[in-house]
Amino acid sequence: MNKKRILVAGGAGFLGSHLCERLLQQGHQVLCVDNLYTGSRSNVAPFLENPRFQFLCHDICIPLDVKVDEIYNLACPASPIHYQADPIQTLKTSVFGAHHLLELATKLKCKIFQASTSEVYGDPHVHPQTENYWGHVNPIGIRSCYDEGKRCAETLFFDYHRRHRLPIKVARIFNTYGPRMHPNDGRVVSNFIVQALRSEPITIYGTGQQTRSFCYVDDLIEVIVRLMEAPDPVTGPINIGNPIEYPVSELAKKILQLTGSSSPIIQKPLPSDDPKQRQPDITLAKTLLFWTPQISLEEGLRATIAYFRKAISCAAPESSATCRSFERQ
Ligand code: NAD
Ligand code: UDP
Repeated sequence: MNKKRILVAGGAGFLGSHLCERLLQQGHQVLCVDNLYTGSRSNVAPFLENPRFQFLCHDICIPLDVKVDEIYNLACPASPIHYQADPIQTLKTSVFGAHHLLELATKLKCKIFQASTSEVYGDPHVHPQTENYWGHVNPIGIRSCYDEGKRCAETLFFDYHRRHRLPIKVARIFNTYGPRMHPNDGRVVSNFIVQALRSEPITIYGTGQQTRSFCYVDDLIEVIVRLMEAPDPVTGPINIGNPIEYPVSELAKKILQLTGSSSPIIQKPLPSDDPKQRQPDITLAKTLLFWTPQISLEEGLRATIAYFRKAISCAAPESSATCRSFERQ
């Protein structure tokens, strides 16, 4: 296999660190670029001794000039509480960040992957969501910095593809969970597991009847790499995720059962524009990439619960890690 030098923007985050690990296992050199906004040092600590791994603390809102053979762009906070904490930075990361990486890919004439999202469908009127659905997105709400930022990034990718013949790969990722999510990530799977393990109340927003479809991280990394390796006419956008759909209330019960926790379930207000239902139609991924998810929710939750049991028992506060503290360590 052809060994490459591969840039992973957002490589110290949850998905990015698994991708770095996978690419290192394949024998590639990995340049992980991250500003540690939501990523953490511990996610990439095991790779730092590998001479094929390099960490560059950098904000992709600033142009970057490096020499690589391929680029994966996963840099962007993905959890609503984190992307809403600094919405202007989120929008800049999605749009300016994508622009800078596309400029770099154009200069280097290299393939570039974009981690897009099911959020481009907003609160969907088409169910399950197919790639040809244009979505139902509020352009001025609290989720818009993320949703519209990712939509604009897709536009940029396709304009670079048409104008500069740039090879692009755009994946619309649906809710994915697994080890290396931060205990303070704020997304539903990590929140419920951490609450259950700490015997704290499980916080269901709204009635809990809203649905999501949860994909285990190993399944997702497999299809991301397959998409990147697929022959050129395959640009996406392509839905990737697990199509088995669950109400959030059912997820809470499952996590209580698997952790053996007796945490009470409480209700909290539903944030505005929270999508009511979400399920990917993955026909395209099945037919073009010969991929279907292999890991059941129960199996994936067991592995994630085991990870969090360890992570929260030896919890050093990592969320405040900065580039400077990273470099010092
Ligand atoms: P994450 O928050 O764990 O990872 C994002 C990483 O990007 C972090 O390491 C963060 O520090 C880094 N980052 C943020 N802004 C940056 C900037 N300006 N410059 C450099 N680095 C920056 O989230 P994740 O779940 O790993 O998501 C990774 C990507 O996948 C994101 O682009 C997200 O939108 C997309 N995605 C994820 C999911 C999911 O369910 N996990 C679903 C849809 C889309
Ligand atoms: N949610 C919840 N309790 C939590 C966190 C999230 O009920 O502690 C709900 C949230 O309102 C949404 C769903 O779980 O309906 C998924 O939320 P998440 O933040 O994981 O991702 P989203 O798909 O909304 O971006």
